[in-house]
Amino acid sequence: MRLLTFTLPGESRHRIGALDAKDRVIDLGAESERAGTRLPFDTSSLLSLVESGRAGLNAVRDLLSAVRAGTLDHGAVRMLAPIPRPRKNVMCVGWNYLEHFQEGERIRQSGQELPSHPVFFTKAPTTVNGPYDRVPFDPRVSDKMDWEVELGVIIGKAGKNIAEDLAFDHVFGYTVVNDISARDLQRAHGGQWFKGKSLDGSCPMGPWIATADFLDPNDLRLTCRVNGEIKQDSSTRFMYFRISRLIAELSRGMTLEPGDIISTGTPSGVGFARNPPEYLRAEDVVETEIEGIGCLRNELAAD
Ligand code: MG
Repeated sequence: MRLLTFTLPGESRHRIGALDAKDRVIDLGAESERAGTRLPFDTSSLLSLVESGRAGLNAVRDLLSAVRAGTLDHGAVRMLAPIPRPRKNVMCVGWNYLEHFQEGERIRQSGQELPSHPVFFTKAPTTVNGPYDRVPFDPRVSDKMDWEVELGVIIGKAGKNIAEDLAFDHVFGYTVVNDISARDLQRAHGGQWFKGKSLDGSCPMGPWIATADFLDPNDLRLTCRVNGEIKQDSSTRFMYFRISRLIAELSRGMTLEPGDIISTGTPSGVGFARNPPEYLRAEDVVETEIEGIGCLRNELAAD
């Protein structure tokens, strides 16, 4: 299933929906009302559906088996990030593709070796942005904004000290993340990445969540285009630390909860490592796409 959060024209109320095979939107709240069934979650919150666990997903499956076709063209609704306001920071992995580590090391010249454990950092919840929304750009804050296409993993079942071989039991689904990064702020603040990774709107996400049964995340092409030009083009099979290892490591002594988002790192081709370096400017359009999930399209807009 592909699940999304959207609003209808002229409305501010969030709705959640599922996409049918022709990418038309089935409004879960409206359809359950029409069918006279009560869903075991709040139909304005995809986070609520995630938290409702297996019961919630089964109820959606039952509903969809009766509905099948969507009634709304997906271009006619406004899509938000699937979880527009996560309860926690978005958890991220640094240097998870060997070529990306190497391209950065060519610039840093630090003699650093790839760490034996994944590097984690986070992005503030206020970074989360819609799949087609504008990303604020203010050169007085940062003039070194960079792109990073990444596979996002949505946790569905809580767990602590999760074993690697059970990690996928805890996954609800997958989404596309653009981990937009202010390189100047990343460097200026003592090499702690939080500030440079946490500017408002710097985490476009979506366009929907593909549930764990919908696709195999282990070999998906991921690409990033800036103004139509391909900058990143790789596959999730080149992840250095696999998804199961990331979940096992993150959950050591730290409970992962439904709705937590883990962004699994970016491949090579980012702007700062190019020769000469390239950074985003107002009116640039960034498209980040993962095969089998979808494509984000975000324009940078003067803030
Ligand atoms: Mg990243």
